[in-house]
Amino acid sequence: MKALRKMHAARGLSLETATTPAFGPSDVLVRVRAASICGTDLHIYGWDRWSQGRIKPPVTLGHEFCGVVDSVGGEVGAVKSGDFVSAEMHVNCGHCHQCRVGEAHICQNLRIIGIDQDGAFAEFVKIPAANIIKLDPAIPERYGAILDPLEMRCTPFWPGRLRGGRHWLRVRADRIDVHRSGQGLWSFYRVCHRNQPAAAGNGQENGRGRSIESCGGGCSC
Ligand SMILES: [Zn+2]
Ligand SMILES: [Zn+2]
Repeated sequence: MKALRKMHAARGLSLETATTPAFGPSDVLVRVRAASICGTDLHIYGWDRWSQGRIKPPVTLGHEFCGVVDSVGGEVGAVKSGDFVSAEMHVNCGHCHQCRVGEAHICQNLRIIGIDQDGAFAEFVKIPAANIIKLDPAIPERYGAILDPLEMRCTPFWPGRLRGGRHWLRVRADRIDVHRSGQGLWSFYRVCHRNQPAAAGNGQENGRGRSIESCGGGCSC
């Protein structure tokens, strides 16, 4: 298959012929239909200081994508061939202390598909079935390919309660401006869901979420 890969510890990427990923009994092989370029990919392309300390070539980039399930492992039941999907690309180990106490998002052994292992800038990508997110086939592929950054724009908020019972909702804002509409909709949903009024802050602080610490590429993924 064709794959856009970082082959050497130097600036640039190259289009390579790669082996279609082998997948295990709990994995899903997805035929990629669309992928988007993250700021992290640009860091890796440019081979900046962060990339030099994190990336271990050769590796196929791409951690924002959507596609159609091609094959599934023998233990996979919730996903089938032909499903339209995207995926959570942070893969936790399931065994460390954080994973065992329900804090898998800060897993000590967290790996990111497309950064620490081969990703979606290829015809096929291997994803653990637990990370697969089914999509409505009516969703255009151009939107299915940006669900990763959209999720990051939707989750970084902090709800709280003031004296007297009023609720507040603080929403951060930083680089991925294109997703602010999604962020706002999510915030609106949460407030409505609780049926509580909200007082929004100005979001000046750049309080990056935990995933950015693991990704570290300077973007908001
Ligand atoms: Zn873990
Ligand atoms: Zn990203």
